[in-house]
Amino acid sequence: MISDEIQRITAQLPDGVRLVAVSKYHPADAIREAYGAGQRLFGESHAQEIQQKHTALADLAGLEWHFIGHLQTNKVKYIAPYVSLIHSADSPRLLEEINKQALKVGRRLRCLLQLHVAAEETKFGFTPDEAMAYLDSGAWRELEGVELTGVMAMATNTDDSARIRQDFHAARLFFERGRQIVPFTELSMGMSDDWHIAVDEGSTLIRIGTQIFGERQY
Ligand SMILES: *Cc1c(COP(=O)(O)O)cnc(C)c1O
Repeated sequence: MISDEIQRITAQLPDGVRLVAVSKYHPADAIREAYGAGQRLFGESHAQEIQQKHTALADLAGLEWHFIGHLQTNKVKYIAPYVSLIHSADSPRLLEEINKQALKVGRRLRCLLQLHVAAEETKFGFTPDEAMAYLDSGAWRELEGVELTGVMAMATNTDDSARIRQDFHAARLFFERGRQIVPFTELSMGMSDDWHIAVDEGSTLIRIGTQIFGERQY
């Protein structure tokens, strides 16, 4: 049951750690059920899907939409009016577009820098060195429509818990270093299979899909 899983997870979270229920590929009714169990933060990774659900669930007061997937620059305008946190700011160019669209709708959008610390090759995310260079450059200070509030990372997809811990630790180290420059408060890390390790390593936001909603439905 969705509500049982939410209660099971939240009961284990230390103070200061919040649950983002990742509802991608699950129907709006599943979100209603989670909302009924007290869940308020929901994560989606496709612009069209989050848009449809935002419309379908407009009656749920206090629900917060978090965007967690790769965001194409041409889709930012669709989510800018209502998204509460973008976990996946993965390039300076995307941050500039978020800034532009946020200012257009009179908002300041909270964003996390997506850090690439896992072993897998990916086009997305800043390496820790790139992210530090970006912070040092001061370019983010020009973005009045963006509030950089922290860091998001995914660990290597492996059963090797030492490797997972190492990846989360690298993200945590960057978070601590970055915090000397920007007042970061959020460290988003941990998914269904690795969130216990992420919490151990200092996560403040865990992003859980499968454990709550089961296998993705479409
Ligand atoms: C899908 C997704 C999750 C949730 O993964 P589960 O293994 O289903 O918990 C978390 N973070 C991101 C970025 C995702 O895309």
